[in-house]
Amino acid sequence: MPISHETYASLTLEDTLWGLRSGAFTAPELLDAALARIDACEPAVNAVITMDIPGATKAAGAWPRNGTRAGTGASLAGAPIAVKDNLMTRGLKTTCGSRILGNFVPPYDAGVVEKLRAAGAVIVCKTNMDEFAMGSSGRNSAYGATGNPWNPKLVPGGSSSGSAAIVAYGGVPAAIGTDTGGSIRQPASFCGLVGMKPTYGRVSRWGVGALGSSLDQVGPITRTVRDNALLFDIIAGHDGRDSSSLENPFVPTLPTIEDGVAGLRTAYDPGLLDRGGVHPAHAEAIRFAVKAIRGAGGEVVEVALPLVKYGVAAYYIICACESSANLARFDGVRYGVRERAGGGLWDTYSKTRGLGFGDEVKRRIMMGAYALSSGYYDAYYLKAARVRRLFATEYEKLLAGVDVVLLPVTPAPPRPLDQDCTPLENYLGDVFTVPANMAGIPALAFPVGTHDGLPVGVQAMAGYFREDALYRLARTIEKEATLSDPPWARPAPEAGQ
Ligand code: GLN
Repeated sequence: MPISHETYASLTLEDTLWGLRSGAFTAPELLDAALARIDACEPAVNAVITMDIPGATKAAGAWPRNGTRAGTGASLAGAPIAVKDNLMTRGLKTTCGSRILGNFVPPYDAGVVEKLRAAGAVIVCKTNMDEFAMGSSGRNSAYGATGNPWNPKLVPGGSSSGSAAIVAYGGVPAAIGTDTGGSIRQPASFCGLVGMKPTYGRVSRWGVGALGSSLDQVGPITRTVRDNALLFDIIAGHDGRDSSSLENPFVPTLPTIEDGVAGLRTAYDPGLLDRGGVHPAHAEAIRFAVKAIRGAGGEVVEVALPLVKYGVAAYYIICACESSANLARFDGVRYGVRERAGGGLWDTYSKTRGLGFGDEVKRRIMMGAYALSSGYYDAYYLKAARVRRLFATEYEKLLAGVDVVLLPVTPAPPRPLDQDCTPLENYLGDVFTVPANMAGIPALAFPVGTHDGLPVGVQAMAGYFREDALYRLARTIEKEATLSDPPWARPAPEAGQ
């Protein structure tokens, strides 16, 4: 039976899979509803860079009824999924949100995209993002800013801005993002969603446009905790083509997700919430989570996290250094757009990079090249690397005694889309998300309620490979949380409102 785009918009990933398997609708019918919803919402939100209607139609056509095909056991069969535009997709334009890759069509699929396709996912589109994943607003895209579906006048967060926005308006039930310093968790939180930054090395980075290679991870953005675990279980696992991919056996997280919090020890730093700088609603969200955990029989202890304040300084040195090296490959010769210049090779390089990159990307390349240059290396890069080591040690020690640490996702709610702020003001918003990337540990953002019509989330971090503990905890709290009037249950937002 055809399904209206309004009904479709509020389906979770599990709902869509159930509906497909039970024969309530077919994959092509679901895709029609997805395309109608995307069409209705895009003028106001701009979450998409490239649609893949032919590819999606073909993929959906493989699952004409009941979402099953004898012998495949494909677990995402027929489900519409969106992928951030820094994951390579074979034959489909991949821009990384940059002008310099405006014409780039990769000849291969990223490791995660391969896994999605093998599981039967219908990849509908490539989502908008801050250029090369640098940013936390969605405003740094060369393809226009993305609006927050809760209120299109606000930023949706970034850099996985489109992946969060399209899930929030109900264009797809789940999307893939990348997180170098918070880019899955922060937009998930601003859009009332669940976002996982997995353990470093748990999910393949093969075929992902690199920002900071030692920090980057790929992860799912969904509306429910169960959906998130379901998708994580599909994309996680070893990939020999990514040299930092870990070989430890992967244990699926969905089977234990309903196990509750009894036996889990959770820590939080109350001083961090009282010291100021954290919006009262975000501090309150942590207290709400603590209460829900205790109410469900979990133990909560108080700890001090004295390093938090050094995170942003260290992260922005390390990330800029790595990105200045990673972006050296975009020279107009090997990939993407070439700006021809009369003066020869060097002029072509500088014209291509000068016109191809946006301001934030240039700023980081300059910052990184400066910090890595001889004479400054010890003062900046080495020092930042040492601070990073301190973070890893602090969390290793702490997580030897507790299973989970709770933190806010961001200090403050989303800013107005048209409000300019300095780079430093933007960077400071990452204070609570960068520690997990520097330590390499998994971290999950999930919503606990609404305040003034906007969602408020919390963040939980755990030891290496303990994504299972994060999902159990978040699933327990989710049962106590209510999100009033979410955009996926509303009519499409109107452009210009
Ligand atoms: N906001 C951070 C930055 O701009 C994080 C980006 C990310 O996680 N990709 O670097």
